[in-house]
Amino acid sequence: MGTVCISVDAELGWGFFDTAEPPMGRLNRAVWGWNQLRELCDRYGIPTTWAVVGHLCLDDCDGVHREHPLGAERFERERTEWSTRQSLRFGPSLVDDVLSADVDHELASHSFSHPDFTVESTTDAVVRAELSQFEAVTDDYGVDATSFVFPRNHIAHRELLVDRGYRCYRDLSPTRQLEPLARRQLEKLRQTTIGSPPLVRPRIDDHGLVAIPASLYLFGFEGCGRNVAELVGTDPIVRQAIGGIERVAATDRLFHMWLHPNNVTTLADVDRLEAIWQHLAAAREAGRVDVMTMGEIARDELAAEPQYA
Ligand SMILES: [Zn+2]
Ligand SMILES: [Zn+2]
Repeated sequence: MGTVCISVDAELGWGFFDTAEPPMGRLNRAVWGWNQLRELCDRYGIPTTWAVVGHLCLDDCDGVHREHPLGAERFERERTEWSTRQSLRFGPSLVDDVLSADVDHELASHSFSHPDFTVESTTDAVVRAELSQFEAVTDDYGVDATSFVFPRNHIAHRELLVDRGYRCYRDLSPTRQLEPLARRQLEKLRQTTIGSPPLVRPRIDDHGLVAIPASLYLFGFEGCGRNVAELVGTDPIVRQAIGGIERVAATDRLFHMWLHPNNVTTLADVDRLEAIWQHLAAAREAGRVDVMTMGEIARDELAAEPQYA
């Protein structure tokens, strides 16, 4: 029986905090999208890994964060453009809702304030502060996060994750690991003809962390391509996701979908997810697939690893 995992990068405005022109139309719907996604998980009983930006757990802040090595400069937008945009910066009740849901979701870390881990300014000291400040703000929830999703999926400083007790992270999908040209060709082929996102296997990396590759980004096919595809009938992402669930059922592999709650901005987006969640719940009900969080996958992977004295 195959396994299906869903991970979400729960960040409200933080994914665009340091971009020149954040997509405000999308971000203005971020709280709505978050609630829609959580309700879908409730309705179909789908446990999900919520990789939360730690800053969301705060009720308020001074916008300076003097205790952070990147300090006031890094957080300037909190004091200027976004000074009155609480709903882009804070969401403790949204995090509460996830943790108090009937479904047993996993709280994972997506860092404290979403810096790119691969840029020069993100030093070891910055990463340590990002990890410890995440821990400080999530401590109140009584949760010890052991799964990590890197901001922008830019993987670096893994040894510092080990130091803080993390056990796994979301790795790039096998197609993201290809050369750009090959990747573009494959993406094009996938969008126009076959719907076969990769099935993957978790593996233990050279730091002893479980790398859990992604299979399919659920909002990776937007714009005019999507509109044309919808006109002719089937949402191609729904087709790919259902194809992935069906294919993984006959294997011992993993099918790992991911998205941001702030991708969900319209009822058509909710329909897309509902078609997938419904299919997944039925496949699980029929005993054809397991649905697991990243933390559960890592636990099993580490338990299966032979121990050498
Ligand atoms: Zn702040
Ligand atoms: Zn992110």
